[in-house]
Amino acid sequence: MDLRTDCLVAGRWVRAASGASDPVTDPATDQPIAEVPSLARAEVAAAVDAAWDAWPAWRSRTAADRAAIVARLGELLLREAEPLAALITREQGKPLAEAAGEVRYAASFLAAAAAEGPRVRGETVPAALTARRITVLRQPVGPCAIITPWNFPAAMITRKLGPALAAGCTAVIKPAPQTPLTAMAIAELAVEAGVPAGAINLVTGDAPMIGEVLTGDARMRKLSFTGSTAVGRLLMQQAAANLMRISLELGGHAPFIVFDDADLDAAVAGAVACKFRNAGQTCICANRFLVHESVHEAFVARLAEAMDGLRVGRGTEPGVSVGPLIDDAAVAKVRGHVADAVTQGATLVRGGEPVRFEGLADRFIAPTLLTGLTPAMRMHAEETFGPVAAVRSFATEAEAIAMANDTPYGLAAYFYTRDASRLVRVAESLEAGIVGANDATPSAAEAPFGGMKHSGLGREGGHQVMDEYTEVKYVSQILTDATT
Ligand code: NAP
Repeated sequence: MDLRTDCLVAGRWVRAASGASDPVTDPATDQPIAEVPSLARAEVAAAVDAAWDAWPAWRSRTAADRAAIVARLGELLLREAEPLAALITREQGKPLAEAAGEVRYAASFLAAAAAEGPRVRGETVPAALTARRITVLRQPVGPCAIITPWNFPAAMITRKLGPALAAGCTAVIKPAPQTPLTAMAIAELAVEAGVPAGAINLVTGDAPMIGEVLTGDARMRKLSFTGSTAVGRLLMQQAAANLMRISLELGGHAPFIVFDDADLDAAVAGAVACKFRNAGQTCICANRFLVHESVHEAFVARLAEAMDGLRVGRGTEPGVSVGPLIDDAAVAKVRGHVADAVTQGATLVRGGEPVRFEGLADRFIAPTLLTGLTPAMRMHAEETFGPVAAVRSFATEAEAIAMANDTPYGLAAYFYTRDASRLVRVAESLEAGIVGANDATPSAAEAPFGGMKHSGLGREGGHQVMDEYTEVKYVSQILTDATT
């Protein structure tokens, strides 16, 4: 695939008429990769026009037709898996093997949406009047604003775009400024897959301006956002003016509980997978390890040993498992969390230091393990979004559940136990949309992913996602020749 660096509006690849652009850089080296357009307000508004104009024809296609195109897009992602993975690693930094995994994960949302689209069903309802018939229809909600973060540049788009297109909606996508190139590559594949002009549009530029245009136009019927809770809250307020339908996938602060009866080997392997993939920059990464006091020492020792096997480096290097953080602000935040914890009495068991490489940017942090986490520490309340595991011990199951739920977030929660009754009790008690019971990597296109509390609204994946992109309408009909 050639590197695509422009926006897609009404079927045309465009640059900003003003010539304005923003750089995209490789987080591992700080070297520029490309310049992408910084569109003006009117140019973003043209994308809204296009999504609106393309909607009637797209929603009139059969569900099977649309599903075939969405499925084809998924196949094209897999055909281009290698260049796409290389592009993700280049602009986002994650190790190549993880980037390849993301491409497969991104494609799985398209396959799932292609399967679910034709299954969107209405119903008939027995009416209280003899002459009345009630039919319930599910219809596409309309043009959708899709705003995504940088940590999964492909998957965060396909898990919105797939069901939107399959349901009969059109879209304007605004990717994160750190990772627009993967989004542009996906848009190009969408065109090849047969998505008609205007049904998918992609814009880049000033985020607040784009957000205002997309939420300020009553023709945009739906906002689907993945990103931080602060921005999600702001966009929800903006979307309220037009009462847009909204889905928000926001921040998390996942607890990871290890009970005294846990399989410690499985818990340690799960902890490494959950905490250190994408260098700790996933919304469902564990942010607080809560470990029963009787296994605390053993768990910490084994986790430290497992962490010694993690190799830090540029994502393109074979064998690297922890890449760079996305930018300097992320590095400052992670280092600040560690320094704050240590100042407040946490014990540094491993890491904590930057790792420096000749010729590379100063964005690498050694996998870090801390014990003695307390509620007073910043990382107890804020998402760390870095390769830092912080452990706190507990004495009873009730205490563990109370600690786990002691957060405004409610995205993912994990626990390890071999007790079947405890498994049910704890799973039912955790305030999180996603519970991993002896499972540290629960994400799957067939499951309804989403958060409770400040982690968001709505679900992505599963059959539930189709509800997010459809409206319910009922038709009440009186039979004109009825005698009663
Ligand atoms: P972010 O700062 O909230 O940005 C997300 C997207 O929103 C970016 O494209 C950003 O563009 C855009 N944006 C920011 N302000 C905007 C505005 N006023 N109007 C319109 N768009 C605006 O989040 P991030 O740092 O990229 O991503 C990390 C966050 O995402 C973490 O909190 C993580 O937990 C969360 N996340 C959640 C999930 C989930 O499924 N729940 C999945 C992945 C990530 P600019 O950067 O140009 O401002």
